[in-house]
Amino acid sequence: MTTWGGAAGERPAEMEPETLVEWVYERLVEAYGVPPWKPDGDALGGLIATILSQHTSDINSDRAYASLRERFPTWEAARDAPEEDLADAIRSGGLARVKAERIQRTLRALTERDPVAPFDLRWLDTENIERARAQLTTLPGVGMKTASCVLLFSLGRPAFPVDTHVWRVTRRLGLIGPTVSADAAHATLEGLVPPDWRHTMHINLIRHGRQVCHAQRPACDRCTLRARCAYYWARQSADGGM
Ligand code: SF4
Repeated sequence: MTTWGGAAGERPAEMEPETLVEWVYERLVEAYGVPPWKPDGDALGGLIATILSQHTSDINSDRAYASLRERFPTWEAARDAPEEDLADAIRSGGLARVKAERIQRTLRALTERDPVAPFDLRWLDTENIERARAQLTTLPGVGMKTASCVLLFSLGRPAFPVDTHVWRVTRRLGLIGPTVSADAAHATLEGLVPPDWRHTMHINLIRHGRQVCHAQRPACDRCTLRARCAYYWARQSADGGM
């Protein structure tokens, strides 16, 4: 990644939030590029894959998802199977009993909602983003972030998922207030980040959070965003470095 090479110097004048978003977006694209975005249109597959991805690596959850689909080629079969058989199929993803129970509760909740075509979620494609997300969050164990991930990654809808990295980096930058919850940050950031930028911004903020803006000891000295970062300047001020 490129680094911001300037000396600490004086803090630049504050930007309006919309201008700051644009500046951050451009710096992150310079650093990390524009990631590919290939939604496959499979909202339910995306939802189940997101459940499987909790607390494990992408490799393990991908393996668990492939095994699940191989063992249970239809969602009806996965819903009606003994829970231990489902857990056995997804064992490589970790927390197999917990995730099997969560998957079956989700599939049963969808069946209760629409007994005729429970697993046809095409209506999410045309529903307004807020209403689509609100509907998804009524499913067991589906929060704002998971619902937004399904809309963004599976359906290509411009939702802006706020995970722990996005939440931390945007708070430090001052794009959201210090006491705004991750759930509340969805609406704030969707109000600031233009729809066409949301996928790239989401992915690049996560990369930045993992590689530079760590939860403990952020690497501000090699951060491309530090010139405009509220946290950086507050720390400079506290350290007497200005
Ligand atoms: S300057 Fe530091 S706190 Fe601010 S975004 Fe960069 S790494 Fe994070």
